[in-house]
Amino acid sequence: MGNLNDGTFNEEMKQRFAKANVYSKSNCKNCWAKFYCSGGCNANNWQYEGDILTSHKVGCELEKKRLECAIMIKAALADQKDMPQSTCDGDDCFADCQ
Ligand code: SF4
Repeated sequence: MGNLNDGTFNEEMKQRFAKANVYSKSNCKNCWAKFYCSGGCNANNWQYEGDILTSHKVGCELEKKRLECAIMIKAALADQKDMPQSTCDGDDCFADCQ
């Protein structure tokens, strides 16, 4: 986007990146993960899809799987708080605690 040593900046490129968001990326508009993901990595989009506004398909699948797992973990932890304390002694607890 520019060079700090000589003070040059590519304003057009800066504006293009500034406008790259979940509302301007067609794949993201209807994606359930858009407010967690924020539209993915622009560098990956450019490298693998040829356009910063086109989401990298593999990156999308990885991001959505990470989010699914994170949400599941948070739900499980919230659920555990409502459960009575375990009486497991650590030797034979798989049936009760897993
Ligand atoms: S997962 Fe992909 S389609 Fe969904 S918001 Fe992120 S970049 Fe966009």
